[in-house]
Amino acid sequence: MKNLAFVLCFLFTADCLSAQDLNYYLPDSVTYNPAIPKPKDIIFHEVGEYHVTHDRLVNYMKAIAAAAPERVKLETMGFTYEQRPQVLLIITSPANQKKLEEIRKQHIQLTDPAKSAAHNIANMPIVIWIGHSIHGNEQSGTNASLLSAYYLAAAQGKQIDELLENTVILLDPSFNPDGMQRFSTWVNQHRSKNLVSDPNDREYNEVWPGGRFNHYWFDLNRDWLPAVHVESQHRLKWFHQWKPNILTDHHEQGSNATFFFQPGVPSRVNPLTPAKNQELTAKLGKFHAAFLDRIGSLYFTKEAYDDFYYGKGSTYPDINGAIGILFEQASSRGHLQETANGLLSFPFTIKNQFTTALSTLEGAKILRKEFLQWQRDFYTTAMTESAVSPVKAFVFGDENDRAKTVSFVEVLLRHQIEVYGLKTNISSGGNDFKSSGSFVVPVNQPQYRLIRSMFEKNFEYKDSLFYDITTWTMPLAFGLPYAELNAAQFKTGVIGDKLFEVPAIKGGIIGGTGKSDYAYLFEWDEFYAPRALYELQKAGVFVKTATNIFEIPWNGASRNFDYGTIMIPVKAQTIPADKLFTVITETAQNNYLEVFALQSGNVLSGSDLGSSKFAVVEKPAIAMITGAGVNALDAGEVWHLLDQRMNIPATHLEPAMFNRANMDKYNALIMVGGNYNELNKEKLKSWVQQGGTLILTEEAVTWASQNGIGTITLKKTKAPIDSTQKLTYTGRAQVDGAQQVSGAIFGAEADLTHPLAYGYNQKTISLFKANKVFMEKSKNPYATPFYYSDKPLQSGWVSKENADVIKNSAGVIVNTVGSGRVINIADNPNFRAFWLGGSKLFLNAIFFGKNIDAASGRTD
Ligand SMILES: [Zn+2]
Repeated sequence: MKNLAFVLCFLFTADCLSAQDLNYYLPDSVTYNPAIPKPKDIIFHEVGEYHVTHDRLVNYMKAIAAAAPERVKLETMGFTYEQRPQVLLIITSPANQKKLEEIRKQHIQLTDPAKSAAHNIANMPIVIWIGHSIHGNEQSGTNASLLSAYYLAAAQGKQIDELLENTVILLDPSFNPDGMQRFSTWVNQHRSKNLVSDPNDREYNEVWPGGRFNHYWFDLNRDWLPAVHVESQHRLKWFHQWKPNILTDHHEQGSNATFFFQPGVPSRVNPLTPAKNQELTAKLGKFHAAFLDRIGSLYFTKEAYDDFYYGKGSTYPDINGAIGILFEQASSRGHLQETANGLLSFPFTIKNQFTTALSTLEGAKILRKEFLQWQRDFYTTAMTESAVSPVKAFVFGDENDRAKTVSFVEVLLRHQIEVYGLKTNISSGGNDFKSSGSFVVPVNQPQYRLIRSMFEKNFEYKDSLFYDITTWTMPLAFGLPYAELNAAQFKTGVIGDKLFEVPAIKGGIIGGTGKSDYAYLFEWDEFYAPRALYELQKAGVFVKTATNIFEIPWNGASRNFDYGTIMIPVKAQTIPADKLFTVITETAQNNYLEVFALQSGNVLSGSDLGSSKFAVVEKPAIAMITGAGVNALDAGEVWHLLDQRMNIPATHLEPAMFNRANMDKYNALIMVGGNYNELNKEKLKSWVQQGGTLILTEEAVTWASQNGIGTITLKKTKAPIDSTQKLTYTGRAQVDGAQQVSGAIFGAEADLTHPLAYGYNQKTISLFKANKVFMEKSKNPYATPFYYSDKPLQSGWVSKENADVIKNSAGVIVNTVGSGRVINIADNPNFRAFWLGGSKLFLNAIFFGKNIDAASGRTD
């Protein structure tokens, strides 16, 4: 049977296909305060007639707050990379507005087991965060927020009064303003007066990278946990300031679908999420069903999507005492599109989103006490469960990489996890933790479940299909030494002071008078060492790197320096010693580095500073292939790493530009996962032969090997079933899906003497794999600096067939091609920008790829 709303569309074609006035969307029999501006008064078009742009959206939200201050308060959470405000409307009754801060303080005490028992839930409003369109090209949500804002500010009568008395609504009109602006510009500029519904039309086919992502081409709906991006950081601050009971996450799905609301697939709920969460999700679902039934919209539940990865907007709340709700509306992806279900108009998609915002509010109002009770119980049970946990605390820290250590502390604090200093030096799990620079997270605290999800490894799963990654063990991602502490280890005296802010770390020149007339040294271990190196090179400083270890006299004793140590000889510079001193001092401070000022180049052991074992490091001139066919997420991770974290510029070249540009000015070229059919292969090959460093990750490795650039041999996974087996038709998705590598963590064994491993100290480096690129180890015994042993899985789910193929395979292979090098990295060293443990490998390829011995990469 056809969706009734679609049928109505055909009956009243003019009404459905052209602009809709507010009557199309709003519930009938409600009167509205005429003093409140309607969307059209401010945005100049009807809702759904065009896609509202972000600036007009903000103007409307401001107008609403100005016209209805007794109900609506507007806050600016922060600004995006492109400097768009992230606004939040706080909507509640006039009486509640007057005591808003009091309500907030009382509310967040429900999450504090020490205080929550004192509160009478019967008198407390429920807090609901209505969030829209984190994927910028799924705009029905954001456009529905215009209607929600109008309705909540302007509706009159008993029903709205009752709602506002019992709720505090945090209306977040756009989770991703930059992506929204990109997409709205695209669809509006292609809109015809006579709407063209042909899916082939340019309106429905965005150019790369599309509006889904934020400025750096990241999926913000994977960033709630790592919180790498400013949008997530600002939002999380407000999330924890209010600790909502419900958070809705309005998305769009494929155009031929209908409407989805959670619960999702029951077998794929994260086991750390208590069962009551899904029970409440289902109870709320009854309201969505009833409201959608009323307007004749088709929908489905439980068959798709899941609540497994806590980095998604509809799942993060589940591990924070709240209920996250995912909504997925079939996308018109423009203004009117032909679909399997008939013509799908943009206004119709907006109507469904608005309707489910209303059903959420109605459900929240009626189930208010149950949700508040759940929030309180979630945290009290976290304390009772953690009290009996055999693991009492986690300790972590890397004294050689203080910046990376504190950036992990920053992530923990952002999620309101209590972190303490380490009071005494301890050893655990084969690691030594020094009191200076190590930190302790005791598990007996309200965020117990979230701590487990961030620190634990996973090997057992109820299902073998995943909507997203299967594991995200954070200390492995950050590449930090860490250990569990049991009751005997976690005794009094271990725990130091509680942290209230991210610890400050300092850099500077140490030794003697600080100024050297001979040479300066700094080690490569610190996270920002590459940024420091580039800063120096940009200032014209000549630098070398140690390809051997050495030991110098220091402070009456001796000090060892590792592979990759950066050496700056004073007399070899074109700038005077005084100026060099100033530049190095600033660089050390900017990048939290200890720089050693030396007065002699004579070492106690290893190579003297004048040895040819110190290799000149050329300043990188980087290009990356981007554009259609290239995986925007992977490319965005590189852009973000270089630009945001390392202050290193890179030129983004479309394949057509690569084909005609003079490539002589680049010495490093990056190609991430993607399809490069448009690229001039001969030109690429000759650029490498002439001395370029080509850095390939994931599927670019496959592409290059298939196109005769570099010489690696790919390994294939054995088929899980042979052709004699007969299986059920409906079982196919499960069998095929299980062969995907959705994302798991593998430990690669590293040759710590190889330039690509400079800066690493742990022999096993955790890398993240979410692809099916498997390489045989090179025949040249020196050309596989990172490889997998016969038991490489550190955490996550992978099929037996894929586990078999990754065993004893190569992680990284270097090929010598003429005077150049091809560096094949099978995995993604920059995964979602929180895989800081892989950053050094990637940056080593950029800085030191050229220095790798030709003989160590030859296979001919
Ligand atoms: Zn989405």
